[in-house]
Amino acid sequence: MTLADRVNRIQPSQTLAVTALVAELRHQGKDIIDLGAGEPDFNTPEPVREAAIAAINAGFTKYTPASGTLELKEAICEKLKTENGLEYQPNQILVTCGAKHAVINALLVLCQKDDEVIIPTPYWTSYVEQVNFVGARPVLVETDEQTGFKITPDQLEEALTSRTRVLILNSPSNPTGAVYSEEELQALAGVLSRREVFILSDEIYEKILYDGRTHYSLAQIPELKPRCIVVNGASKAFAMTGWRIGYLAAEEEIVKAALKIQSHSTSNPCSISQKASVAALRGGDRLVAPMLAAFQERRDFLFERLQQLPGFRCARPGGAFYMFPDVTHWFGAEHDGTVLANTTDFCTFLLEQAGVALVPGSAFGSERHVRISYATSIEQLQAAMERVEAALNRLHV
Ligand code: PMP
Ligand code: GLU
Repeated sequence: MTLADRVNRIQPSQTLAVTALVAELRHQGKDIIDLGAGEPDFNTPEPVREAAIAAINAGFTKYTPASGTLELKEAICEKLKTENGLEYQPNQILVTCGAKHAVINALLVLCQKDDEVIIPTPYWTSYVEQVNFVGARPVLVETDEQTGFKITPDQLEEALTSRTRVLILNSPSNPTGAVYSEEELQALAGVLSRREVFILSDEIYEKILYDGRTHYSLAQIPELKPRCIVVNGASKAFAMTGWRIGYLAAEEEIVKAALKIQSHSTSNPCSISQKASVAALRGGDRLVAPMLAAFQERRDFLFERLQQLPGFRCARPGGAFYMFPDVTHWFGAEHDGTVLANTTDFCTFLLEQAGVALVPGSAFGSERHVRISYATSIEQLQAAMERVEAALNRLHV
């Protein structure tokens, strides 16, 4: 069968593939600890659930404006103003079916064939596929532990060409947990202010920050704001991955263009989820605080525990709920006649021999690392690390 080129340009989501594999193995009766999925294990907070139930009972179950309800757009503007110091009007907001949908809408609006999109690497898996999908060209800029997995102004300068259309920046980062400080972003802004490129700032992990860090957005720099597309959503902060609510904030022209696409593709995001998201945004940090405290405890536990494992070199993440250890120590190790050659082999080994699911770094553009999601209980993390340690002891290096 011949399918459209745009399908052949992309691969299925590797993060979602791990989640699907875990479900299949569990269905077969296997005992798997899932440290692959990038989603909070908590239930959605009660006031949010209640708002959704009330919406259903009130018959708020019809189409809404394709761009989202005015009520939710106003709540988003209020959030952006009070929490981020960003002034947007409701006509500068597009509510989308998850943050992933906001990213693709933005890329569809901004990118022509062969435009270049700069993506600091390691990257969240969907960026590259989405850029390929819209026919643009990902320009991967490698970062590593030396710069805390952050792109430097020099690297940015070097990557910019006359074809550069967009820079995608994700802080806090999936998969590395890196957080750009205000000073680091100001330094990047120094380069960006001289060039007419758009900035897609994915701030979905904004609220998951540790050790008193605060979030800063490139859109806070007045000169850059008109070129920023701020992406955020309810999924991670409010444990609402299944509700599918994200949003983008940008110049009205960009929002209008993205709305054209949305009005002919998904129409409005789920009406009930929109009501729930108003309650989430109004609850704000009060709802997030207990989950954040648990994430920090888990991060501390896992970070200490990884120090005790041989060959799991890891930087201490400042945000999000991922660790990204370098596991190259294990490449070439052998188990039952099979040699582990790369991060995929390593993850397959741990899945089969330890019953622990991780995501290979190759999903994020790294051939050296694995991603561990610690959005799960300390007990599960403890059990997972014991299993991993026992499996590693069976490897011949
Ligand atoms: N951006 C990043 C960096 C993510 O990790 C995710 C995770 N799913 C998303 C966007 C998409 O979020 P959503 O589930 O709201 O589509
Ligand atoms: N973003 C999460 C992850 O990285 C969820 C899966 C996805 O949407 O890619 O695991």
